[in-house]
Amino acid sequence: MPMNFAGRFAGRSAVITGGASGIGLAVAQRISEEGGRVSVWDRDPAQIEQAKALLPELHGVTVDVADAASVDGAARSTIDALGGVDILVTSAAITGPNMTTWAYPAEDWQRVIDININGVFHCNKALVPHMLERNYGRIVNIASIAGKEGNPNASAYSTSKAAVIGLTKSLGKELAKTKVTVNCVTPAAVRTAIFKQMSQEHIDFMLSKIPMARFGEVDEVAALICWIASEECSFTTAAVFDVSGGRATY
Ligand code: NAD
Repeated sequence: MPMNFAGRFAGRSAVITGGASGIGLAVAQRISEEGGRVSVWDRDPAQIEQAKALLPELHGVTVDVADAASVDGAARSTIDALGGVDILVTSAAITGPNMTTWAYPAEDWQRVIDININGVFHCNKALVPHMLERNYGRIVNIASIAGKEGNPNASAYSTSKAAVIGLTKSLGKELAKTKVTVNCVTPAAVRTAIFKQMSQEHIDFMLSKIPMARFGEVDEVAALICWIASEECSFTTAAVFDVSGGRATY
């Protein structure tokens, strides 16, 4: 059961990509419950409506994060609607199919790269200048333990998440003398809708690698993300936070 840090996000506005489902939705819920305004950017309008049924106060925008123009439009309309954006959590991603690298269809590879890497780049790029103008920002990119360890039969996904770690480190250092921090988290497996994109064999493999011998819960990942997205996390940037039940070895 998450603790409630009442008012922690009072006066703050957050954009959460992929926020209509899973980990992003848990973050949306928590920021909202703790006083923040939340705009969910997701490609699935039906899913956004479902999220709004749960949290009527949500602002929702249908966005394809892989499309820079779509992201720029969403940034403008969200800044207008919320009066500004203080927090960006990039949760939108896909897994791509589970197969060996040499069998991997090039179009699936490209789609994973477009959403998981370029999508994070477009969203970070669209909101950093705005955060610099406001002299405050918290960016939390969601990578994965797969980006550190390299899961077999998930090379596109693992590659994309390693890239998110690299982007976070570069951008965090570029912004280190400002009030905008950029960090990422590397969860191990958490049972969400994303599991439907993976083979059962792959899901079993991921579980077998977690020393705690269980899946994570969305609330456990959201708790860490929300702390990194809060004012309190002020002396950490360009960092990678583990939330992997002990799987991370570095
Ligand atoms: P999810 O599938 O429940 O949610 C992802 C959301 O992203 C969905 O609502 C989907 O509609 C949206 N989305 C996908 N492509 C998009 C696009 N092009 N534009 C806009 N929105 C798009 O998945 P989740 O488990 O909540 O995953 C959230 C993040 O956590 C992802 O970055 C994922 O890679 C990462 N992660 C998840 C796990 C896990 O086991 N669940 C583990 C490690 C990392």
